[in-house]
Amino acid sequence: MTATDATQVAIVGLGKIAVDQHVPSIARSPAFRLAATVSRNARAEGVDAFADLTGMLAARPGITAVALCVPPQVRFAMAREALVAGRDVLLEKPPGASLAEVAILSELAAAHDRVLYATWHSRHAAGVGPAKAWLADRRVTRARIVWREDVRRWYPGQDWIWQAGGLGVFDPGINALSVLTAILPDAVRLRGAELSFPSNRETPIAARLDLVTASGAEIDADFDWRQTGPQTWDITVETDDGTLELTGGGARVRAGGEVLSSAEALASEYDGIYAQFAELIATRRADVDMRPQVLVADAFMLGRRVVTDAFED
Ligand code: NAP
Repeated sequence: MTATDATQVAIVGLGKIAVDQHVPSIARSPAFRLAATVSRNARAEGVDAFADLTGMLAARPGITAVALCVPPQVRFAMAREALVAGRDVLLEKPPGASLAEVAILSELAAAHDRVLYATWHSRHAAGVGPAKAWLADRRVTRARIVWREDVRRWYPGQDWIWQAGGLGVFDPGINALSVLTAILPDAVRLRGAELSFPSNRETPIAARLDLVTASGAEIDADFDWRQTGPQTWDITVETDDGTLELTGGGARVRAGGEVLSSAEALASEYDGIYAQFAELIATRRADVDMRPQVLVADAFMLGRRVVTDAFED
């Protein structure tokens, strides 16, 4: 593919993930060219900058794809506007602030013959494919997720995570659920949860989930944003034929005593996302898997709430 064939894409919301991952992955992708950014405050060097989406869509009909990297609470209106304007749309995770929003966007994309791609970056971690393949013909008997990190280190100054719709500790926790639902051969449902809300915040700082597979294997998940020191993003799956350990957010996997992957966390996840987006555009297919967000929504519906110490940044 030559540079002139590449799909012109615009990034909307030039915050941490856009700058750290989307801009470099688009630059490495032969299938895309970063043609514009939309941001109220920031710009990327050498790229046309727009202050609002409406202006960019009107001015640049050649930009046929849009990557929405804004927080979930403001994403729906932007996604709807881009789809109605005839653009293919990539959604950062979580795909919406509610389940209904994403269902509406899916219908809209189909009605306008546009591609909608709800990304789950952790599914592109190096260990996820090997883990799924290893588990495919084994019987899962039990699993455990431990996703414990320091919110002050990873989300400095990001107020939206503490506002309703920002998901709190489920913002990273949903990554674990995206991996779990990708690697297990069986469907998963939530039976119960306990969510801990700081007394001064609208979203939880910690959550314990009680999950079960369709065939009855129990899974517990421990999400916590108060972990200082070493950070933990681990999934352990016991089977009738050995144990699988997926660590580093899906980057490293060891199963039955053998190392199946030993990559670095986050390495190449976004290259995988843009390769998948290119494939979806080429084949005019949508990819919207809501299973991770259904589990989070169920945790908010079924979970017992406890109030914990106030959290100050
Ligand atoms: P962020 O650093 O806070 O950036 C979000 C950007 O969205 C802001 O820079 C802002 O850009 C724009 N924005 C538009 N309307 C906004 C509003 N009402 N409130 C706040 N920002 C608004 O957030 P982020 O960490 O990049 O996360 C964005 C999305 O990516 C989230 O859904 C998150 O779950 C996902 N994600 C983040 C990471 C990560 O490591 N940070 C990893 C994977 C996925 P302008 O000022 O440019 O308009």
